[in-house]
Amino acid sequence: MDIHEYQAKEILSRFGVGVPQGALAYSPEQAAYRAREMGGDRWVVKAQVHAGGRGKAGGVKVCDSDVEIQEVTEGMFGQKLVTHQTGPEGKGIYRVYVEAAVPIAREIYLGFVLDRASQRVMIVASGEGGMEIEEISEKRPESIVRATVEPAVGLQEFQCRELAFKLGIKPAMVQQMVRTLRGCYRAFRELDATMVEVNPLVITSDDRILALDAKMTFDNNALFRHPQISELRDKSQEDPRESRAADRGLSYVGLDGNIGCIVNGAGLAMATMDTIKLAGGEPANFLDIGGGATPERVSKAFRLVMSDKNVQAILVNIFAGINRCDWVAEGVVRALRENPVDVPVVVRLAGTNVEEGQKILAQSGLPLIRATTLMEAAERVVAAWRSDTTRNTNLRAV
Ligand code: GDP
Ligand code: MN
Repeated sequence: MDIHEYQAKEILSRFGVGVPQGALAYSPEQAAYRAREMGGDRWVVKAQVHAGGRGKAGGVKVCDSDVEIQEVTEGMFGQKLVTHQTGPEGKGIYRVYVEAAVPIAREIYLGFVLDRASQRVMIVASGEGGMEIEEISEKRPESIVRATVEPAVGLQEFQCRELAFKLGIKPAMVQQMVRTLRGCYRAFRELDATMVEVNPLVITSDDRILALDAKMTFDNNALFRHPQISELRDKSQEDPRESRAADRGLSYVGLDGNIGCIVNGAGLAMATMDTIKLAGGEPANFLDIGGGATPERVSKAFRLVMSDKNVQAILVNIFAGINRCDWVAEGVVRALRENPVDVPVVVRLAGTNVEEGQKILAQSGLPLIRATTLMEAAERVVAAWRSDTTRNTNLRAV
């Protein structure tokens, strides 16, 4: 789960990381008021969307008066901000953050990520802040410094000092840098984050180290133990299909194709998507309905997949190991009786009680297309989707 910049800054500051003074606003009037309330003569107005690259897309503006803030934010609220990270549809701006502008002397990139290879939290930093990390690794790879954290002992002071020296932090400010790094790390660990990114972390001309931008992503599987983090969820920033799935406890990722997938098991779901592509189709989603594919879950899955208007065919691929094919077949039949769909549905069942399952499908009288192997299922669903005539014939043939 992602959170907004202002929320990440509030969290990081609780862990001792310096952040500029700022205030949140839900309207242009409020933005102007919050700047007056804060005082000063220069502010940075920042659109709060769950995406980076806002600066280049017009989502970060420096303003010199409250009147200017009002004008600038009138052009932001209710608009979609399209950055290189949002995709062409963009993300809606419903909150802006007004910050006291700070005099920047240097920009540093700082990221905390989970490194799968070393199975450790890894710190990635670069003296070339302001650019995205992808750009830094392309243009100035030699500027990137790394450190891995030994989980048993946590991030050590000497590691922080070493990073500070490598980044060219002057000696008088090293302790401040140590506090910043340790604060980010503690926030990462204690709150079960999967990513903390501060880009840029700035050194001001008056020798303060401040997180000028902040991004945090949390491990959805650990959210149950952090209700205060769950509360920060902003559905306006999520793909509506994925929000609905999360609310129903289904693991779903929306994609751009038109063949809906209902599968049990993440590995099988990935293999199903690959096979659909191999057969010449494009999957509309990744969906893992989990091991216990009860009729209720199958029903929910059908409703979820069909709520995507791009879906023109559905492939149900269930391998029953612990589960039973007859039970899944009952679920499919019940789901389609309750909510008939107007697109072809291919069902492939394998595993325990497969014969009974097939029998239930065959006797249901529903226009289902059956398949035995995964390849056959993918080919059938692609064929059914390709041609309206074939689709109708197939629908009746079963
Ligand atoms: P992003 O584009 O979504 O990553 O948004 P950032 O919060 O990183 O802002 C983009 C850029 O705006 C930063 O890299 C800074 O150069 C600039 N910026 C942000 N806040 C300030 C500020 O307080 N003062 C000044 N001078 N520049 C700022
Ligand atoms: Mn940034």
